[in-house]
Amino acid sequence: MEEVEPEMLLVTCHTGGCPVAGVTYECEMYPNAEPPTWRAVCGQCRQTVTDIVPVA
Ligand SMILES: [Zn+2]
Repeated sequence: MEEVEPEMLLVTCHTGGCPVAGVTYECEMYPNAEPPTWRAVCGQCRQTVTDIVPVA
């Protein structure tokens, strides 16, 4: 078994009316074994965040 390393990702919520909409957060996540590889939920509006970009 390969060891899975967590990756740093830039997560931005775009939900209308969300207090942190448009604010990008850096967070560490483990990739999912099955797609979607990255899955995040906004800490403020609790909506699924689709704007997830790996840190180059
Ligand atoms: Zn949000």
